[in-house]
Amino acid sequence: MRTVIVGAGPTGLFTAIALARRGHDVAVVDRDMGPQPDGTWDRAGVMQFHHPHAFRAQVVDALAAEAPEVLAALVAAGAELVAMPGPPDAPPRTAGLRCRRLVFERHLRAAATAEPGVTLVRGHADEVLSDRGRAVGVRVDGRRLDADLVLDASGRSGRLGRDRRPPVEGGDCGQAYVSRQYRLRPGAEFAAMTMPLADIAYFPGYAVIAFPHDNGVFSTVIMRSGDDRELVGLRETAAFEAAATAVPLLAAWTAPDRARPITRVLPGGRLYNTYCGQLDAHGAVPLPGLVFVGDTVCTTNPSAGRGVTTSLTQVRHLLALLDDGPDDAETTTRSFDAWCATAIRPWFDDHLRCDAGLAARWAGHDVDHTAPLPPDLIAAAAEVDPSMMRVVGPYLGMDALPSTLDEVEPRAREIYATGWRPSVPDGPSRDELAELVARTAGRAPAAVP
Ligand SMILES: Cc1cc2nc3c(=O)[nH]c(=O)nc-3n(C[C@H](O)[C@H](O)[C@H](O)COP(=O)(O)OP(=O)(O)OC[C@H]3O[C@@H](n4cnc5c(N)ncnc54)[C@H](O)[C@@H]3O)c2cc1C
Repeated sequence: MRTVIVGAGPTGLFTAIALARRGHDVAVVDRDMGPQPDGTWDRAGVMQFHHPHAFRAQVVDALAAEAPEVLAALVAAGAELVAMPGPPDAPPRTAGLRCRRLVFERHLRAAATAEPGVTLVRGHADEVLSDRGRAVGVRVDGRRLDADLVLDASGRSGRLGRDRRPPVEGGDCGQAYVSRQYRLRPGAEFAAMTMPLADIAYFPGYAVIAFPHDNGVFSTVIMRSGDDRELVGLRETAAFEAAATAVPLLAAWTAPDRARPITRVLPGGRLYNTYCGQLDAHGAVPLPGLVFVGDTVCTTNPSAGRGVTTSLTQVRHLLALLDDGPDDAETTTRSFDAWCATAIRPWFDDHLRCDAGLAARWAGHDVDHTAPLPPDLIAAAAEVDPSMMRVVGPYLGMDALPSTLDEVEPRAREIYATGWRPSVPDGPSRDELAELVARTAGRAPAAVP
């Protein structure tokens, strides 16, 4: 089968390799120039490319199943597979992969480029072509690329097939990001962590995260409410540095004798929770032979690091549907849409609830334990009653859907009804942070040896 995939991000590249290994003749279209000979890669159309990524166990499993040599190459290049702490008698389980997105995608792209049956086409896909009511290819910079199957993996900012689908649900997640990458000094190690892939600390009004990557590189993030204009100045180097010194979690990672910054402070673009199924407003398959996959279906607040997992999990299910054939294109699309509604959409709904709750708490409201609790608060209550981890652990690892938390939600409410609240870590209050930003933004940053 001739397949055209629009988008050479994680979704498109992974799908291309997997389909080529099933005998498809695959063309992957992307407007991006690809990595430069000196190793740099701007990736202008993918805002998150240089922001930190954590790759969960499901991503590792997907690579192991479809492209094990990519996983081996990543590890050989310095990416680190980390194990999940578990009961002493249980076999260790992979928690995920510590790796920069740049490194992850460079290796995935190299494998796709080397794969017989995959052709990377540089260009802008302008239009999906149709004939007699089904997709027959794509127009790329005015040229026609014929296909029996078109996959739209054009990501969260892709516009290609938007006019054929219902309006996207969701929108801005209400939070904003700034991040910076650092490299450990010779002999130094990553700071101690309480979670395997990223350490996160929530304060009333902001949050910070540290992400270890490959080769001694790590990132720090400061997250604020999207409405909090007084913290916008964190994107300035001097203010970011001052915050990194003032917040203990960040200070432990970025202490000058431990690490030095290797990038400027990177402001994040807008962050979304969005979901969009395959069917049009009338419940019909808009164009049989055209399937949307990856971030074009679901995008979630990056602070939980779920996007590549929800994307590659979709691809694996789509591959299984195509493997099972010989269903017609319309049935395949309907089956995929129905599965996404039950297996992917719940993560979008989960973020809507978590982010609405966080916005309310950051605006000064207390936890309302008389109403259903948002999933993050249910999970946090396991600090008081560790027996809840039997249910909370699989949810946190994305091995069980958010609805599984319903079993322990009443117990969590009991805990909040006692007056208990998640502990606030050491560090400046939001007002103290705002004052620090006002004092330091605009100043020259410290010289780094
Ligand atoms: C700040 C931030 C941090 C994140 N952190 C994490 C994390 O820690 N862990 C995690 O799992 N996920 C994370 N995510 C989510 C993750 O980045 C996405 O889920 C992932 O990029 C989705 O991959 P994709 O291939 O579907 O889309 P993309 O990576 O967006 O790729 C789409 C590609 O399509 C191309 N394209 C678009 N339109 C066209 C066109 N018309 N013609 C030609 N080419 C086109 C683009 O150039 C791009 O290369 C984060 C997201 C953000 C915003």
